[in-house]
Amino acid sequence: MTSAHAFWLAGRQATGETTFDVTSPWDGRLVGRVAVPSDAQVEEAVAAAHAVRDEFAATPAHVRAAALDHVSKRLAERTEEIARLISAENGKPLKWARGEVGRAVSVFRFAAEEARRFNGGEAQRLDTDAGGQGRLALTRRFPKGVVLGIAPFNFPLNLCAHKIAPAIAAGAPLILKPAPATPLSALVIGELLAETDLPAGSWSVLPVPNDRMPALVQDERLPVISFTGSDKVGYAIMDSVPRKHLTLELGGNGAAVVLADWASDEDLDRAAARIATFSNYQGGQSCISVQRVVADASVYDRLLPRIVAAVEAQVTGDPSDDATDVGPLVSEDAAKRVESWVDEAVSAGAELLTGGKRDGASYAPTVLAGVPDGVTLAREEVFGPVLTVQRADGEAAAFAAVNDSAYGLQAGVFTHDLQAAFRAHRALEVGGVVIGDVPSYRADQMPYGGVKQSGVGREGVRFAMEDYTYERVLVLTGL
Ligand code: NAD
Repeated sequence: MTSAHAFWLAGRQATGETTFDVTSPWDGRLVGRVAVPSDAQVEEAVAAAHAVRDEFAATPAHVRAAALDHVSKRLAERTEEIARLISAENGKPLKWARGEVGRAVSVFRFAAEEARRFNGGEAQRLDTDAGGQGRLALTRRFPKGVVLGIAPFNFPLNLCAHKIAPAIAAGAPLILKPAPATPLSALVIGELLAETDLPAGSWSVLPVPNDRMPALVQDERLPVISFTGSDKVGYAIMDSVPRKHLTLELGGNGAAVVLADWASDEDLDRAAARIATFSNYQGGQSCISVQRVVADASVYDRLLPRIVAAVEAQVTGDPSDDATDVGPLVSEDAAKRVESWVDEAVSAGAELLTGGKRDGASYAPTVLAGVPDGVTLAREEVFGPVLTVQRADGEAAAFAAVNDSAYGLQAGVFTHDLQAAFRAHRALEVGGVVIGDVPSYRADQMPYGGVKQSGVGREGVRFAMEDYTYERVLVLTGL
């Protein structure tokens, strides 16, 4: 009998009466059994977070920063072990899992740095009008209240880090709800937080089942919800609590544009290599993976065979093998959905250039051209290792093709032309434009988030801290 992993209730370990199993998408083996919190335990965590919110907001910056530094250091020390856990529960190749741990190390370190400098306050003179004579305004930021952080499965450690580290840095208590497929990495963050001096009650990690989430979402003691996941669930939450403060980090069908000036053999080899890697990394299960390539007609015929060759060179297989580039998807159902979308596109006339095969939860890296506009693959987020390539006549047509999407998370533009870079920045309806690379670049301190159906609000440590807090002004009179 495998003993169950405890969850974290108000800073201490707790077990429940029921459990659920976490299995490897690669070989189905049991990775861990996790205790489920009861309604009474969830209530205890929420009540404790609510009760401690003033004390936590007043905890000195150096105490919160030291706790964040501690977690960063311990994550770095335990990189290999945690990377293996992420790889086991998520199916992500080990080399990408190590990279994810490295990013979480940075997120906690950035948060420690921000905790030290955030909220120094600002003074504003008010004597610009007669009524303001003798007055001064001071502004400082205060937490809006307890944050409910809801995380997806695809970066089970780092996207949990993006919820919890800014909350601690801002002095806001947080209840973290990891994805059901990948709770074990989040529970490790709990283990490391438990080694710190943060006030009991200021944080909990609760693997609450999805069917019990609506009650938590509705709880008025949790005025801020920071959600990363699908647009379907994200907008359902928004509809159910229109008065709460929400950050929604949702999906995308990221495009990489290759403009006419990106034309040397070296340029095209580099673009093809980057596109092949980042349409397939994590099995395409990243919100900013490359799903669409829009290539200028003048380079299209030379780029396409390079992309196909680079995609075929991706090493597929066991995620625990150091050489593997592409592992399984998170489940066989996910792979079946991807398969059905590709089959639909091919039946409608798309040309399958490579891939298109499924084996259990694994789906082969796939490239299609000539995908008809009306099919699902052309419109929705595939969240699998599938790339569509299209031709555009000139820059304006290429940018219009990128914008012809319900989503708007990030876009990549391969160009050497500085003016084109600024035109792209102005024209593309996305939260971020990456010049000279794929859309899949994210640094954890930069503002990150989408427009259109890709969500509202921004993460990136300082930006999340701003989201979790509000400015309150103090007007001094009689000066
Ligand atoms: P999901 O929407 O299925 O689940 C996300 C989280 O919501 C999970 O923790 C899940 O348990 C929880 N959840 C499910 N039902 C809920 C409910 N009724 N109330 C409250 N919470 C509920 O998403 P997923 O499959 O885990 O993740 C994949 C999606 O996440 C993709 O669409 C991807 O693009 C998106 N994503 C976005 C970003 C970003 O920063 N924009 C980053 C990573 C992933």
